[in-house]
Amino acid sequence: MITQVAQDRPTRLTELLAAAELDVLLVTGPVNVRYLTGYTGSNGLALVGPGLRRFVTDFRYAEQAAAEVDPAFDRIQAPIELLDGLADALPGGSLRMGFEAAHTSVTQHAFLREQLADRIELAPTADLVESLRAVKDAAEIATVRAATVLADDAFERLLQDGLVGRSEREVAIALEHDMVLRGARRPSFDTIVAAGPHGALPHANPRDVEIRAGDLVVIDWGAQLDDYCSDCTRTVAAGEPTAEAREVYELVLEAQQAGVDAVRPDRPTAEVDGVARDIIAAAGHGDNFGHGLGHGVGLDVHEAPWLRRRSNEVLQAGNVVTVEPGVYLAGRFGVRIEDLLAVTEDGAEVLTSVSKQLIVSD
Ligand code: ZN
Ligand code: ZN
Repeated sequence: MITQVAQDRPTRLTELLAAAELDVLLVTGPVNVRYLTGYTGSNGLALVGPGLRRFVTDFRYAEQAAAEVDPAFDRIQAPIELLDGLADALPGGSLRMGFEAAHTSVTQHAFLREQLADRIELAPTADLVESLRAVKDAAEIATVRAATVLADDAFERLLQDGLVGRSEREVAIALEHDMVLRGARRPSFDTIVAAGPHGALPHANPRDVEIRAGDLVVIDWGAQLDDYCSDCTRTVAAGEPTAEAREVYELVLEAQQAGVDAVRPDRPTAEVDGVARDIIAAAGHGDNFGHGLGHGVGLDVHEAPWLRRRSNEVLQAGNVVTVEPGVYLAGRFGVRIEDLLAVTEDGAEVLTSVSKQLIVSD
């Protein structure tokens, strides 16, 4: 099923183009193309400007494009190297054309400069479509909510089978398998299952190593449903944890809850990061929390806005963000707790429903 593309997305984009004095934007980021046009395949690009809606793909995707692309867009078939057909797909006359700097290779840029030099002025842009994507409409939030419910249910089911004696990889695969059986298209990202000292690596890959009684296990997982992602982390105790592990868990939980409580519209994301970070730093673990507090989630699992110290973004209703502080003690263990929230007009809705009390699993 494809989420209906909101009609006003290209229109909102043209307003940003006017502010940047651009006649047209060449959209090459696949997720941005998906967001604007509805197209979910690969090798597609979009051209958007005032009164201009064009979608370009090659013959392999013509049928898929006919089924998916918003009818407001003219569909154009081009050679497989889509940029080869760009000169024909653009309107005539001189134009100032923005391109997405983050989604254009140096080779592509050189090609564009060479091919279009006679009439097109190229201008790099950053985060135009991304800034629109950061503010979700009700249908998008409903999809993220449904992805979160699905992922939460799979996690609850996973814990029923216990963790001790299973390998990290086995647990990760079981969780991913269950999410797909429940209707997820795929996991939002490669599931993290990291036990004991391995949990001190924030982005650990699951190993063929058995989880032992006494390990803290960091599990970070998400479901992609109808192209939208969920994202959640829980740290579970496999058997009774040490007093120190419990203490660090309670610290991270306190910081996480304070961060969750700080999420509301008009609040600078750096400030929300600081609320949680100060609690961890005051306990002497500031150096053991080496990543940002959270990130936006949508069609990408990591997208704007960014909750981190050096960000100048401000939260708005419609943002979907994670709050995920962690404390990582190299060679010993790690704790991270992550919830997903939707920013509302007057606060935030916590989408994640899995308990945050330390779960002691067999
Ligand atoms: Zn996560
Ligand atoms: Zn995350």
